[in-house]
Amino acid sequence: FNRQEQGARREVISELERLANTAGYCVVDTLIQNLDSPNPRHYFGAGKLGELKHLVQLFEPDVVITRHNLTPSQRKNLIHELGIEIEDRTQLILEIFEKHAFTREGKYEVELARLRYEMPFFKGKGVELSNPGGGIGTRGPGEKKLELDRRKALQRIAFLKKELEKLGLERKIMRKRRQKAGIPLIALVGYTNAGKSSLLNVLCDAGALVEDKLFSTLDTRIRKSKLPSGREVLFIDTVGFIRELPHQLLESFKSTLEEINFADLLLIVMDASETNEEGKLTVIEETLKKIGAEDVPRLLVLNKVDRCTNERIQMLEKKFPEAVFVSALKGFNLDELKCNIDRIFNLMRKKYILRVPFAE
Ligand code: GDP
Repeated sequence: FNRQEQGARREVISELERLANTAGYCVVDTLIQNLDSPNPRHYFGAGKLGELKHLVQLFEPDVVITRHNLTPSQRKNLIHELGIEIEDRTQLILEIFEKHAFTREGKYEVELARLRYEMPFFKGKGVELSNPGGGIGTRGPGEKKLELDRRKALQRIAFLKKELEKLGLERKIMRKRRQKAGIPLIALVGYTNAGKSSLLNVLCDAGALVEDKLFSTLDTRIRKSKLPSGREVLFIDTVGFIRELPHQLLESFKSTLEEINFADLLLIVMDASETNEEGKLTVIEETLKKIGAEDVPRLLVLNKVDRCTNERIQMLEKKFPEAVFVSALKGFNLDELKCNIDRIFNLMRKKYILRVPFAE
C-alpha cells in the first residue's frame, strides 16, 4: 500500500480476500505493509518479509497472494526466500476466469491473456513459462529453454489471435442473424460471484441451451427464455467485472465484451449481501464506458436477498428505488423480474420495431 491508498485499505483487502475465496482459497491471514512503493528486490520490506516468513512457517499455506503485480525478479526472490508459490492479483483473476471459461472462445481468451501477462517473465533467468492453467514456476533450467519457450509462446499467441479473429467473425454473423430474427438480447453484467450464471440458469428453462442453428452452439452462454407476455428473449452471461480489471484481460476479452454493446438491455447484477454497492456500481459504469456500452438501457438487479437482513433490504430499496430484489438460489421474485423486463421492452417497443428493419 502506498500512503494515498490507506483510506481504501479495508476495501482493497476485502476485495482481494473475496477474489481468493472465489478462486477456491481459504485465507488464513493478511499482511499489510506501509511503504510508498514496493521494495524492488522482494516487494516486501525486510521487516515484513520476516513476518511473512514466520506466517508461512506457522500456517504452511499453498500460496502467498500479493495485491500488486510482481516483477520477474521480485517473484524469483520471494519464491527463493519463502519456498512457496507466489501469485499476484492478475494471476488470481486469471485463475478465476479460467474456472469460469466454458466456451472455446472464452478459453482461448483467458489463455491469450495469461500468455500476454507471462511474456515478460521469459526474460528473467531461471523462470520458465508455466503450463496453461498453472502458476509461474521456477524450474527453468536456462536461457536455451527460455528462448524455446518464448518462441513457442509467441507462436501460440499468434495462433490464438487468429482463432479468436475467426470466432469473432462467426459471432458477427450470428449477431446479424439474431438481429434479423428480432429476438431481444439481454446481457447479464456485474462482478464475478454476483450470481450472474445462477440467474441465467433460473431465468431460462433448465437445459434450454440455444442450439438453434441461428445461434449455433459457439456460445453456450446464450439461452432462450419467455417473458410473462409471451415475448421470447435471449439471455447472455458475460465475463465478470472487477475493479482495475488488468488490461491484458480487457484486451483479450474484447470481442466477448463487445457483445454487451449489441444487447438491447443490460441486467446489472449485484450481490446485495455485500457492502460497497456504490463503489461496485461505479466500477461497472466505468467498465461499460470503456467498452462503449454506456448508452445501453439497464435494469439493476440486487441478488442474494436471502442473505440480507430486512434493515439492509430497506436501506437498499431507499437507495435504489428502481432496482429489482431477487434470489437466484431461492427462486425469489423472479416473476417480478421478468415482468419488469417485459415492461421495459413494452416501453422500448416502438424503438425496437423501428430498429429491426434497419439492422441489416
Ligand atoms: P457469477 O460469477 O456472477 O456467474 O456467479 P455464480 O452464479 O457463479 O454464483 C456465485 C456464487 O453465489 C455461487 O456459489 C452461487 O451458488 C451463489 N449464489 C448465486 N445466487 C445466489 C443467491 O441468490 N443466494 C445465495 N445465498 N447464493 C447465491
